[in-house]
Amino acid sequence: MNIHEIYKTFPTQKDCLNHLEYLRWKDEPVCVNCGSTNVTKFKSELRWHCNDENKSFSVLKDTIFEGTRLPLQKWFYAIHLMLSAKKGLSAMQLSRNLDVSWNTAWYTSMRIRCAMQDQSYILEGIIQSDSTYIGGKPRKTNKKVDRIKHKRGKGADKEQIIGYIEKKPNGKVIAKHVKKDTETLELLNLLKSNIKADRSVLITDEGKEYTQEFDKIIQRYMVKHKDEFSSYGLNTNTIESFWAIIKRGITGQYHHLSKRYLPFYISEFAYRYNNRNNKQMFHDLLNEAVEDEKCFINMKPKKGVKSEL
Ligand SMILES: [Zn+2]
Repeated sequence: MNIHEIYKTFPTQKDCLNHLEYLRWKDEPVCVNCGSTNVTKFKSELRWHCNDENKSFSVLKDTIFEGTRLPLQKWFYAIHLMLSAKKGLSAMQLSRNLDVSWNTAWYTSMRIRCAMQDQSYILEGIIQSDSTYIGGKPRKTNKKVDRIKHKRGKGADKEQIIGYIEKKPNGKVIAKHVKKDTETLELLNLLKSNIKADRSVLITDEGKEYTQEFDKIIQRYMVKHKDEFSSYGLNTNTIESFWAIIKRGITGQYHHLSKRYLPFYISEFAYRYNNRNNKQMFHDLLNEAVEDEKCFINMKPKKGVKSEL
């Protein structure tokens, strides 16, 4: 759906609500508090009444839209913009597009990122694995003598992301932010839960995180980057390209984002990558958005820190 179609299909708040009600309940509305189907729509058509509890409710409860005062049409617009922005969309840019405050834009985009989480893909075939490090360089000190050479890669004080990617057209990626020194364990867990090992070949570099445990589970080919980047067409180029998209996005759009929210940004980049050929991406995301308990309710930008993103 392009932006014109969105405006034509959902011209009013009521149209947006009707659509979300359909996605969440299909043809059988249920009370979001008690699960009763003994419910009646109010005349205004914006809320429902539970006849068992004698209380009113909205389809937005327990979804990413809960408690919002922003018109749903702007939410739909924001979703469209985020799905189309290959390199990411800053809260500043979104606030200009939606004509809302920076805080509202930040909050809206974080909630949308919540809907992009939990992608439980199962990978198979030729699979590349790698890890990368994300984080800003320390600020330059005034005096040259105080400056220290920045460490790169593993030794530096950066956040580590691990991942697996299928090397094929429309192949999927799984990526995860991990705590320091847990990369081997996390990689093994993902391997066991999300990869059909008996139908796959794993390609890694010579990184120490890939212990002998991996070879017990899956056939593995190691590319020695010291000697060559690709051998007989086996390489880790696909996952490295995915890291490059994340890194360019984070440096270009989000600048200094806090470690706490990094997993949400990784979900966003993975979601766009995994749906790059999906023409129904907008509708699929709305479906995710109305699922129960998708969000991390307590997120707030740090007070007064506008450069957070
Ligand atoms: Zn009820």
